[in-house]
Formats: sequence, structure tokens, C-alpha cells
Amino acid sequence: MSEPKTVVCPYCGFGCRLLVDPTTMRVKPYQGEPNRGKLCPKGLHATEFVLSGDRLKRPLKREGSKIRPISWGQAIEEIEGKLLEIRELYGPDAVAFIASSKVSNEENYLLQKIARLFGTNNIDNCARLCHEASVHALKMTLGAGAQTNPYEDLEGFNAILIWGYNPAETHPVVMDYILKARRKGAKIIVVDVRETRTMAFADYKLIIRPGTDIALANAVMNVIILDELYDEEFIKTRTAGFSKVRMAVRKYTPEYAEKVTGIPAETIREVARTFALAGSGAIMWGMGLTQHVSGVENVLAIIDLALLLGYIGEKGGLYPMRGQNNVQGAAYMGALSEFLPGYVPLTDERFRKRVAKIWGVEDLPTERGLYLTELWEAIEKGDVKALYIVGENPAVSEADFLGVRNALRKLDLLVVQDIFMTRTARYAHYILPASAFCEKEGSYMNSERRIQWSHKVCEPGGDSKPDWEILTMLGRALGLPGFDYSSVEEITAEYFRLFPSLEERSIEELKNGDGIFLPRKRLHTWEFSTPDGKARFIAVEQVQPWERPDYEYPFILTTIRLISHYNTGEMTLRSPSLVRLMGEPRVLINRSDAERLGIHDGDWVEIETRRGKIRMRAKLGGIPSGVVAVPFHFKANKITSPALNKAGTPELKFSACRVRKL
Ligand code: SF4
Repeated sequence: MSEPKTVVCPYCGFGCRLLVDPTTMRVKPYQGEPNRGKLCPKGLHATEFVLSGDRLKRPLKREGSKIRPISWGQAIEEIEGKLLEIRELYGPDAVAFIASSKVSNEENYLLQKIARLFGTNNIDNCARLCHEASVHALKMTLGAGAQTNPYEDLEGFNAILIWGYNPAETHPVVMDYILKARRKGAKIIVVDVRETRTMAFADYKLIIRPGTDIALANAVMNVIILDELYDEEFIKTRTAGFSKVRMAVRKYTPEYAEKVTGIPAETIREVARTFALAGSGAIMWGMGLTQHVSGVENVLAIIDLALLLGYIGEKGGLYPMRGQNNVQGAAYMGALSEFLPGYVPLTDERFRKRVAKIWGVEDLPTERGLYLTELWEAIEKGDVKALYIVGENPAVSEADFLGVRNALRKLDLLVVQDIFMTRTARYAHYILPASAFCEKEGSYMNSERRIQWSHKVCEPGGDSKPDWEILTMLGRALGLPGFDYSSVEEITAEYFRLFPSLEERSIEELKNGDGIFLPRKRLHTWEFSTPDGKARFIAVEQVQPWERPDYEYPFILTTIRLISHYNTGEMTLRSPSLVRLMGEPRVLINRSDAERLGIHDGDWVEIETRRGKIRMRAKLGGIPSGVVAVPFHFKANKITSPALNKAGTPELKFSACRVRKL
């Protein structure tokens, strides 16, 4: 047995650490924070996909319909030449970069640095598809776009409201914290559009009509205000704008909300009083809230609820639970088209010039770049000619992905840097083999903003290289200043310089301890991150979905996640243990709907929207009439809605569809 290495789990944003034996590649749970000796099936089998025979082993170049190996030197030289040529002909904004929520902080930091030094803010990552609506709402109200408290605080709150989020399948280890709180007497309230595994542990299970979250949140606030259960002192001293919310929620009586949401008025009253009288509480949410055209407003509504009760800081916390293991880090490192590192707006001249100085230039571009979800139309219009993708698979992960595939075909240059020949890589002109998570070192940031070091366990597969090495080669070839890194720690040290709270911290501390919180463990305990230190209430009204059920497409389609599976399946479908555990994917259909359509449990059915069709076997029950749910890992985004909310997140949780037995 060799000494096990500590590695960050490559899957969800909870951020468990794994102890991996370099000889056997067997995984055991790390005993410290945050996972405390626990792992879910994905973490336990995390090294299996690394050993897959499908790994990309050498750089590849497409020539017509043929793909042939090419040397690293030649690949980088040709890519550099084409990028410079496109910039010369069409300007820097004709090039776009997609960063990855699965690669390290250092690698995301480097890619956004390349984009900005190249002259464009066209840099984004898949946070756009999940919690960008949360970031926008949190910035607007509290001044900081991230989770407010650490997981450990969950154990001490008297109530936990879980909304549009199914941690029992998406972040199974966080359930340990929730259940500990429950054992101490905390009330668990779960709001979802179907019966989830998490509901098995709930005191209140609220099955809500899809897309009606604001009506419920406003009705809960209506009851709290009418019963005078709000925290007057907190509202008076630490917030602004309460009167507008008080006015706005007046019409959202529980009886009104019952008609909109389908949840009985008496239940709404009871839940509102229980949550308010608990005296402390957390709100946790997921894609069920954000992936709507009303995503930003949905999150604003639950932030209003937390502000009403003073449940932020000491008495509570807001937990937008992140999907991928480094989605928080990718965003914090500046891989977003509207923010510099640390979510600092591009318009903040002082910070922008400070970053520019560290990077050896005078200034950086100031115009917002394209959102990931806006790229496809820009490619279709000919505005974007080249796309450089690190570790993302938009040909499967984007809404209405057939349109995305058409756009990918039109690019003059597509470079994909990944560990497998993904569906997206099949369209690429150059495919660069990247090392997997345990073949390199670097830091990652989990959902609670804890930066953790991931150690190298084994040598890179084939001729693959860590993403930071590939990006260093590219930056150097492009003639960008400062791309002379010879170790990943040099990049860590550079991003540490951007954040005042990290200036006094050392990389050794990061490597040997339980991580470092950025900027600190708890946000907003004394004052908010707004210019005047006060949080803003923002009143919101119920917003209609973009597409509604009608005679032709009478059902609502939503997407869900499964415990043994992950995103587009590139990693988990190459893990034999997870494939065995997972079984066959099924579409959930209400029993009475199924009876009407002549569908039996296990029958093959076709689910069709205005964008296309998919086929899957049916599983009956656990979902209200009129709604069907498909696991999103199995190409469900072929048919989902591409309508975007204000933060650029698509409405993946609400499409009109029809269902028929095959
Ligand atoms: Fe990995 Fe998330 Fe499972 Fe932990 S809960 S082992 S981080 S997938």
C-alpha cells in the first residue's frame, strides 16, 4: 500500500475530499471537513473513469472527415496562428472561450486571463446554466453573489427550507448535515414539483405547480407580515426597501396562492408560521428555482423571505447549492463574461487596472462579453468565428442542443481541450488531451467557498497534459505577457494576490489543512457587501413561463438528476460501478395520466416538444398530473426550452411537451 493522496472529488459542488491509493486507485473518504468520513457512490468510484480506455491520449487534428494525431508543438502553433488571423480579420470579439467547472481554480484563472489579454470578455462557464440567476439576485440584494454560510451552520439552525432542490440525490453528503439538524429538532420543509428522495426526511412536503414559486414565497411572506412575525429590528437597522415588498405581497393571500401553486392555503399558513417561529433558519435551493425565465425573480423572492426574518448571517444562511465541483471556483476566478475575478464588475476601474497591472498591461476590455447561452446565435450570425472550449460539452449540456450543434459546425476554428472524445469534441478542428483530476495538482472551491488543494495521485494518461500546462503553452505562443509559469503553485500565488483576504495565507496552509474560505467563513454577519452596508428588499411578481402547455403540447416537461449519474454522462457512463448502480433511465409520469394514455410501468414512450423528441421507458407515480420529468443526463436537452432569464440561464425546468406510448 502506498501513502494515499488527498484529492477533491471530481463531481458535485459539495466538495468532498477523497483519499486515493496511488497503487490501487482505490478511494476512501477523507475524515476531515467537509465530508467527515462520508462519500456518495460517485465519490467512491471516482477513479474508474480515469482508467477508461476511452481517454484521449494525444493531440488530434481534423482534416475533412479524417482525424489524425499531431504533435503538441504543431497543434499549439496552428491554433495560435488561426486565433491571431481571426483577430486580425474580425477583431478580438470574434473569438470566445468556454471555461470549465470541472478544472481547477488555476486553470480557470488562466483561461480568463488569456481571453482578456487577447482582447475580449467572451469568457464564460456553465455557471451560466445553473446558478447565475442566484449570483445576480444575491449581488442585487446583498452585494455578494455566493453562499453566505458554511455547511456546519446547517446543524445549528431550527428550520431548513429546501426549495427546488433534491440534495438526497444531487449532494448526498450534505444530507448528513441536514439530518443532524433534524435530530436536534429542526423542522425540514421541502418544496418541489414532484416527490423527491429528500421529501422522505421532511416535516412538510409541498408539491408545487412548476413555475409558481414566486406566488408561494410571496404568500408565505404575506402570512408572516400579517401575523407580525418578521424581525422588525433587523429590517430597520440592516435593510432597505421593505415597504415595497410589504405592498407587493398583499395580494398573495394563501387562498390566492393556493389557486396558483396548488398548495392548500392552510398548509401555506402553517409552513409560514413554522419557519418564522423557528427563530433561525436556512434556505437551500437548486436548479428548480433558477432554471426558469423567472430565475432571478424566484431567487429574489426567497432572499426577501430570509431578510424578512433576519435569517442571514448569525440567525440563518442562504445556500445556493452548486452543481459541479469547481463551478464556484470558475466563477470566483473570473471565468464569467460580466465579472472580473471575485465577481468584481468590469466597470470597477480601480480593480480592473490593478488586475491589468499584475498581468503586465495597462488596462483590460470593459464591454460585457457574450453569455455562454448567447454564443450560439452569435456564431449563427457570423459574429463569433472561433471557440476554445476547456472541459465542457455544450453539444449535450445546452438547451435545444440541436441548434448548438448546427452552430458548432459553422465555426472557422473550434478547439476542445478534454479528457474524452465528447459529443462536442467530435465537431472540433483540434482536440487537445487533458489530464484527469487526479493526474495533476491544483485548488478547487466548493459551494461554501472553501478552497481545497487536490494532490496529484498518478502520472497523466498517454500524452495528455494538465490544463494549466496547455494554457501556459497557448498564452506563451500568443505572445501574452506573464505566461512563464513552471508550476501550478505560481498560478495559485498569482490569484492569491487578487484577494485581500488571501494575502496573508500560504499555499502550504492550503495544501495541508481543511481549506481556506474566500473571503471568510460567514458573509454579512455585521454588514452587507452593498455600498451602504444594507441589504435591499426587491419586490417581485409572479412571472409566466416562456412556453405554456396547450392543446398540442399539453404536458409540462421538467428535468431531474439521479444520484449515480452526473451531467452529460461523459464520466459516470465510463464508470462500470455507477452504470451498474444506476439502472435504466425512466421518465416519470403521473398514474392517472398514464392510464389515460394507455401507458404501463416500463413501457417505451416518446416525449416531444417543439424542438424534437426523445424516447425513454416510463416510471409511473411520484409526480402530479400534467407534469413529466426526465433525467437530464440522457440527452434531455435536445428538447428543453432555450428561453433565457435575465442572468442568461435557460428555462430547462419548464417546456410544453406531449407524450405517447410507442
Ligand atoms: Fe463527490 Fe458530491 Fe458525492 Fe461528495 S456528495 S462524494 S462531492 S459527488
